[in-house]
Amino acid sequence: MSQASHTSAMNRLIQQLTRLPGIGKRSAERIAFHLLKQSPEDSFDLAAAIRDLKANVHHCSICFNLTESDPCPICADPQRDRGLVLVVEQPSDVVSLETTGMYRGTYHVLMGRLSPLEGVGPGELNIDALVKRVEVSHMPDAGAGTTPIREVILGTNPNLEGDGTSMYLASRLAKLKMKVSRLARGLPTGVSLEAVSKAVLADAIQGRQEMS
Ligand SMILES: [Zn+2]
Repeated sequence: MSQASHTSAMNRLIQQLTRLPGIGKRSAERIAFHLLKQSPEDSFDLAAAIRDLKANVHHCSICFNLTESDPCPICADPQRDRGLVLVVEQPSDVVSLETTGMYRGTYHVLMGRLSPLEGVGPGELNIDALVKRVEVSHMPDAGAGTTPIREVILGTNPNLEGDGTSMYLASRLAKLKMKVSRLARGLPTGVSLEAVSKAVLADAIQGRQEMS
């Protein structure tokens, strides 16, 4: 169906849908017609869910994970070990690691990995915030209830860019007085954290290796 035959509201929706990852013109048209056919309540529910997502979901001011409260439930949980920080690339990695139930520390989400080819440098990621978070936790006047960070576990993906990001982080963290470790190499090279099984992730956390 050519674009000229759609109403302007349909065209606007199709245009918005084609901006989503993995949605081409054909799929966008199919989704638009589906929305048109279904009950108004269902379509309005979808619109409200998108609106709520943008209005309520933010990055945690401590770990940058996605959350509706700040700090996020993990940072706010007094049962979590705040002396332990696991650094990951994406919020989806936190979800994968949490499903193992093996990790009781906190996280730090970089929101990406270093990629010189794609123009992603240290400034584009939450790296300075990680260094500062560690430094502040080590200050003698950090305040009552602040736990000094004693170990940072690097949990970037086991591929070229993830490894490069880890090397860079290790060099930035080397001057700070604490342990830096890397998730164990049981993780298959080139496979994202999201894709590996619970058991493999649990092994990777337990068998982590010290870098400095
Ligand atoms: Zn948090």
